[in-house]
Amino acid sequence: MSRSATPLAGHVALVTGASSGIGLGVAEALAGAGAAVIVNYHSDAASADAVVERIRAGGGRAVAVGADVSDEGEVVRLFDEAVAAFGRIDVLVANSGLQKDAAIADMTLADWNTVIAVNLTGQFLCAREAVRRFRAQPRDRRPARSAGAIVTMSSVHEVIPWAGHINYAASKGGSRMFTRSLAQEVALDGIRVNAIAPGAIRTPINRDAWDDADALEKLLRLIPYGRIGEPDDVARAVVWLASDDADYVTGTTLFVDGGMTLYPEFRDND
Ligand code: NAD
Repeated sequence: MSRSATPLAGHVALVTGASSGIGLGVAEALAGAGAAVIVNYHSDAASADAVVERIRAGGGRAVAVGADVSDEGEVVRLFDEAVAAFGRIDVLVANSGLQKDAAIADMTLADWNTVIAVNLTGQFLCAREAVRRFRAQPRDRRPARSAGAIVTMSSVHEVIPWAGHINYAASKGGSRMFTRSLAQEVALDGIRVNAIAPGAIRTPINRDAWDDADALEKLLRLIPYGRIGEPDDVARAVVWLASDDADYVTGTTLFVDGGMTLYPEFRDND
């Protein structure tokens, strides 16, 4: 069967945290697949505008909308502005996330709360708003077989424990069950909900892990496939999960990790 080069033609997609890293790559890939894209950013309006300009220069449609995904009122406004811009919403990529690393004895309550608020509560607030909008849209004007698709950005740390990062690992472990439970809840509405669990992707969030040769060498020992991932590795998986090509896929986590979850230390174990 031949596949369309623009499987998301006619779709409207909202990507949170899209002014940098994985979200930026996802926004550009969704636009390349034919979607109109809302490029959400937290504070870096200039970078978000640059993403929008690149998409428009390539013949796509995009707008930048600032909002804090951990703030209920701002998330509602974000969706209002998205629908005002393009008339509907078909895809949410709940990508925003951050780290506030510390050993437990040194971790402040603020470090804990901020990470849970952005990484987990942010996914809840955005997904809740997406489900409300998907349900309210006329079914006969859908561009897709589903009534809407949600992709949450998880991490290999939804299953790999991570000392010194308990807030982050807890947020991603929470995201895993959030995603699966929501998928079960809204499946009869025709809404699909899936997660992507990236391994080590070259973005600003983990610059210390790939920016110098020693750190990169240490990191590569954890990656059987032998290279660090790039945002586009994740973005192509998001396009697939958001499209009708994945119409029978819901409630799953797609690991995009070069094998990081394959217990690489066992490769040479006798
Ligand atoms: P990044 O720092 O480039 O991107 C994170 C984005 O989230 C930024 O654009 C930031 O502005 C945005 N953000 C932060 N707080 C926000 C808020 N309150 N409201 C709205 N947006 C907010 O890093 P990235 O690697 O591209 O991370 C994207 C996602 O991928 C995160 O959820 C991260 O946990 C996940 N992830 C990344 C890796 C990796 O190796 N890079 C691995 C696994 C998972």
